[in-house]
Amino acid sequence: MKVNGVYCPICQTFVFSRAHYDCRRCPCGNIFVDGGQDKDSYIRYGAKNDVKVFGSLSVSSREITQSLKELYNDWNKGIDNYGYIKEEKKMNKPVDREKKMEEAIRAYEAWDILLNYMEEYFDKDSEEYNTVLTIMDKIEEKNK
Ligand SMILES: [Zn+2]
Repeated sequence: MKVNGVYCPICQTFVFSRAHYDCRRCPCGNIFVDGGQDKDSYIRYGAKNDVKVFGSLSVSSREITQSLKELYNDWNKGIDNYGYIKEEKKMNKPVDREKKMEEAIRAYEAWDILLNYMEEYFDKDSEEYNTVLTIMDKIEEKNK
């Protein structure tokens, strides 16, 4: 069946609500999705930090093999096997990506908020963290 949910660009996970009252968070905790998968039900979602540097949020759907009943039990009994689909996406051409990130970083007024966020969610050795720092250096260099 099809489920609606939201892709978290930070932990690269598609997250969906398993039952009407299941407020499911992605593994990094940034995004929540609520409302279950009933046809007529609403889908509610949001992010703790809306850091656009990593892409924006939107609802999309995925095909899964579990039934609604299995999802309900998974939530209701606290088994917690479902509700996530790990999707490590190959990025577009790295150059395009860097350009997009640069635009997003430039649009960001408070870099300290972004840096705090990076420190909370990313390993200091990670590629993401270093890319953001490199781009910030570049921007500062250009502004001199
Ligand atoms: Zn996440």
